[in-house]
Amino acid sequence: MTDFTLKTNADGVAVITWDTVGKSMNVMNQQGFTDLETLIDQALADDAVKGIVITSGKDTFAGGMDLNIIAKMKDSAGDDPARGLFDGVMGMHAILRKIERAGMDPKTNKGGKPIAAALPGTALGIGLEIPLACHRIFAADNPKAKIGLPEIMVGIFPGAGGTTRLVRKLGAMGASPLLLEGKLNDPQGAKRAGVIDDVVADPVAAAKEWVLSNPTIVKPWDEKGYKMPGGAPYHPAGFMTFVGASAMVNGKTQGVYPAAKALLSAVYEGALVPFDTALKIEARWFTNVLMNPSSGAMIRSLFINKEALEKGANRPDAPDQKVKKVGVIGAGMMGAGIALVSALAGIQVVLIDAKQEAADKGKSYTADYMDKGIARKKVTEDKKAAVLGLINATTDYAALTGCDLIVEAVFEDPGVKAEVTKNVQAVTGPDCIFATNTSTLPITELAKASQDPTKFIGIHFFSPVDKMMLVEIIKGRDTGDLAVAKALDYARQIRKTPIVVNDARFFYANRCIIPYINEGIRMVKEGVAPALIENAAKLVGMPLGPLQLVDETSIDLGVKIAKATKAALGDAYPDGAVDEVLFWMADQNRLGRKSNAGFYTYDEKGKRSGLWQDLAAQYPVADDQPDVITVQHRLLFAQVLEAVRALEDGVLEDIREGDVGAILGWGFAPWSGGPFSWLDIIGAPYAAERCDQLTAQFGDRFKTPDLLREMADKGQEFYKRFAKQDHAA
Ligand code: NAD
Repeated sequence: MTDFTLKTNADGVAVITWDTVGKSMNVMNQQGFTDLETLIDQALADDAVKGIVITSGKDTFAGGMDLNIIAKMKDSAGDDPARGLFDGVMGMHAILRKIERAGMDPKTNKGGKPIAAALPGTALGIGLEIPLACHRIFAADNPKAKIGLPEIMVGIFPGAGGTTRLVRKLGAMGASPLLLEGKLNDPQGAKRAGVIDDVVADPVAAAKEWVLSNPTIVKPWDEKGYKMPGGAPYHPAGFMTFVGASAMVNGKTQGVYPAAKALLSAVYEGALVPFDTALKIEARWFTNVLMNPSSGAMIRSLFINKEALEKGANRPDAPDQKVKKVGVIGAGMMGAGIALVSALAGIQVVLIDAKQEAADKGKSYTADYMDKGIARKKVTEDKKAAVLGLINATTDYAALTGCDLIVEAVFEDPGVKAEVTKNVQAVTGPDCIFATNTSTLPITELAKASQDPTKFIGIHFFSPVDKMMLVEIIKGRDTGDLAVAKALDYARQIRKTPIVVNDARFFYANRCIIPYINEGIRMVKEGVAPALIENAAKLVGMPLGPLQLVDETSIDLGVKIAKATKAALGDAYPDGAVDEVLFWMADQNRLGRKSNAGFYTYDEKGKRSGLWQDLAAQYPVADDQPDVITVQHRLLFAQVLEAVRALEDGVLEDIREGDVGAILGWGFAPWSGGPFSWLDIIGAPYAAERCDQLTAQFGDRFKTPDLLREMADKGQEFYKRFAKQDHAA
């Protein structure tokens, strides 16, 4: 059975239907291309066929290329992978070009058969690149459908002619947001943007009618005198577009994403030459991106492994644990967000706080969220009423009767948490799974207040809950499989990506992020210019510099954590130099964004207005400044070595979780694929050598972990040594 079938109707229209076997959405693979080409050849050669319609047997058109194949393309491209990849990509171009030319005479552009695409729903990636090669695109009027080229989001760019065709269709300016940001539109939006041609009730019927209407099919770029919309790069208008686009890309990506740079080069260089040469240029740059380890690492972490974790790669065997009624205790910042995402998933929510006023305030967060959706015409009043109707904001613990999950988000105080646990279980009994959203307190300790520690677990959300995609699920010493399954099934319901880790100080994410912030602050104390620290971090792909990050999370929280850590570690506490700066900032009442003053200054509206220059009066900037790479390595290794230690300690059981969690949890340089992928890119031997140098220069916190040393000696890679296969991957 093949994914493509052809049926020629009596009216002379050949309908090619794409229906990937065994998948809910069509995805393209090598065999699919071969099959599509065979059917196109057949239809073009058949005299009974007057026109061709390409459509889907599913309610969507296609989700894109099978990324599992793209991730492995380089490895399976033979001894000369760049050549193998380039040839493979050119083969793809040849098929789509055959669709576009449709048998026309190359000199006169006469003859040929009209080919239309009929999209019943979502069309992404290659699922739009094929329609772009057709002569007209019809889409069903389905507001839920998404149409676009999101490749850039996973570290590649549209490499099956999508880049070249879209730029020629819309001009560089029109195509830029779609290519560079991977912006998706609904069908009406895609029509307004000029990506597709018609939005209709029945796209197949409309497409059939169109191909039989004797339409002109030659593409503008195949006609003499074609001019790119908005002007080619060497015309003044086009020139400005490219200068702007180049500045925008570098401003947004800091130049760390190879795909964005390659895309822009393909667009610019392609715009200077005839269409077929432009396709060749696109293929070269696409090959260049596929050869870069960043693209493989990004696809692996941001797509393949993220999806595997969402599908329950590490879920214990247990019956379905879908949550029907959740009790959220504490309606503060976190509780309010947890109530929102639960209600959005259709789960009944009891939102409890000590005072009715506080519970109501927590619920109003959902109302505000829905109102914003209404203002953007994404949400209806009915939907708002339905979601709010699911949330019961109360002080009455009796309302928790019937809950099958509790998420506790009260103050970060073990005494308060213990009392809440007891009060809740007096109503729910011991069988209801009890989760705490603590960010720092050990789960095993908190579980002592529970009637049944096997049903006690950590579900650590990140702030703001509705935006952050990660949840960190923490197993206490006694946490049982049922609780883990419950937490994972809940994460799936609320559409978050889960990682499952073991109990240890700061679990996984905070354990890695705190050393990053501390290293930044330590450098301030040493006299490294704050602008150098912040820019070095951004230039290596961190979304926020360490000083901005601590301003966001608040300096008093940093002080609180430092004090608690010092109390726990005693003499072994390593961060005295950091605390000096942190405590001094707190004494100056510069608590970060929340006090409108921190390492940065803020205007009266709370907008960041630059680094605080007077910091230098207390911590003077040294005459000698380190080079950028040294600063970057200090900041990266501070995080990465914690990730390796978390693996050594057994806090992390799966490096996929370490990488996905790092990118989604705290934005660890996404271009790298995560800390373990980064170590694989630079290689264990170099990493160990660099750690030795950093240790000699800056201290024992950079000491090479035994595991990394051993891997360096043996020349091993993390993704080879710790590869995990599972049913969902
Ligand atoms: P918050 O101060 O905004 O909210 C806590 C809420 O709990 C308040 O509304 C308070 O009235 C309520 N509360 C306190 N005692 C209560 C009791 N006995 N019964 C019922 N309600 C009670 O705090 P937050 O930032 O939402 O944090 C809550 C928890 O989430 C903490 O454990 C924190 O460590 C954790 N957490 C916070 C973040 C963050 O970024 N803020 C991130 C992850 C986890």
